[in-house]
Amino acid sequence: MSSLFPTFTRYPITFVKGKGSRLWDDQGKEYLDFMTGIAVTGLGHVPERVKNALVSQLDQVWHVSNLFHHPNQEKAAKLLTDNSCADAVFFCNSGAEANEAAIKIARRYQQKVLGNGRYEIITFTKSFHGRTLATLTATGQDKVKEGFLPLPEGFVHVPLNDMAAVKAAITDKTAAIMLELIQAEGGVHAAEPQFVRELRELCDREGILLILDEIQTGMGRTGKLFAYEHYGIEPDIFTLAKGIGSGFPVGAMLAKAPLIPAFSPGSHGSTFSGTPIATAAIIATIETMLIEQAPNRAAASGELLVSKLRAALNDLPNVVEVRGLGLLVGIECTGPVADTVTALHQRGLLVITAGANVLRLLPNLLVTEEEIDEAVGILAAVLSEQLAAATN
Ligand SMILES: *Cc1c(COP(=O)(O)O)cnc(C)c1O
Repeated sequence: MSSLFPTFTRYPITFVKGKGSRLWDDQGKEYLDFMTGIAVTGLGHVPERVKNALVSQLDQVWHVSNLFHHPNQEKAAKLLTDNSCADAVFFCNSGAEANEAAIKIARRYQQKVLGNGRYEIITFTKSFHGRTLATLTATGQDKVKEGFLPLPEGFVHVPLNDMAAVKAAITDKTAAIMLELIQAEGGVHAAEPQFVRELRELCDREGILLILDEIQTGMGRTGKLFAYEHYGIEPDIFTLAKGIGSGFPVGAMLAKAPLIPAFSPGSHGSTFSGTPIATAAIIATIETMLIEQAPNRAAASGELLVSKLRAALNDLPNVVEVRGLGLLVGIECTGPVADTVTALHQRGLLVITAGANVLRLLPNLLVTEEEIDEAVGILAAVLSEQLAAATN
């Protein structure tokens, strides 16, 4: 009998060790990790430089209050602003908290800086933004909301890539539009470049803030440090978490200069906002990504992975489509893929789902061609065996 809440459906595997692209279970079985803790361990497991930074920070100091300064926090924030369109950073401890901060700063900017009464946030169906009350309300999926009524007011959902629906949803109370450029949990669906450019123009015209949830697409995952770089636009606010600390739990809300006065002292905070250890993990993660050119490598490896998958799965009628950007890749199948995931585990390959019919591949950004070949081989074998079993 477990003492944990049954919030997760867990596979019957217990991991005890990881290094690079490999994980080992308590039976000593080795796995090739193509899910990276859901896009978290972007530099692979226990990356040397991040480990060393954490160990040396553990010897110095673990926590000081945000009533004082710590050099790591300024340095981590500057690394982020130097390498993005943002001018300021608020650190937190998870993706949901980062989105919560984004929603709060958008409303507060409209209400306190501009002095209007705007509060509505437009988000998209099939989106995923987190599990706090505000972020599950922002999420465009009913299953995360069941049993949690009443939900906070002021969230409107429209279909992705539907400009007419966005325009119809705008009112004089619209504060912000919030989206993932690639809906990851929702099935690996990309926002169209034209739609995103029009969204940016619409926001500028109407005084609406554009919030990008880059929690899964950020930190090199799509082949650029941030996915908005593919689209030729810049958000007013964006959020990061998953890949930013190599597995150390951290999140960040970043925004442009006009937003800065919206978060005056006392307006927002968190005890653990940017602790010395968390920010040591962030600094070492970003520095390693820049030194290793991780985004470029993800772009090249992503193209390789997608083309090899398309070649290997081309003849399988149970595969509908291989799609993605960089190393955020979906394989859409004709039916549910839950059993496929289990069969892949037995062969030592870890992947996850994105909705019922889509397998999602999220290898680390430094994955090698040999590892890609190994994963593609296992995927092709398992998917063709399942096809054979289904047609017999
Ligand atoms: C994972 C995720 C979140 C939530 O992050 P948590 O750290 O689990 O709170 C929000 N948005 C997107 C796009 C995500 O992938």
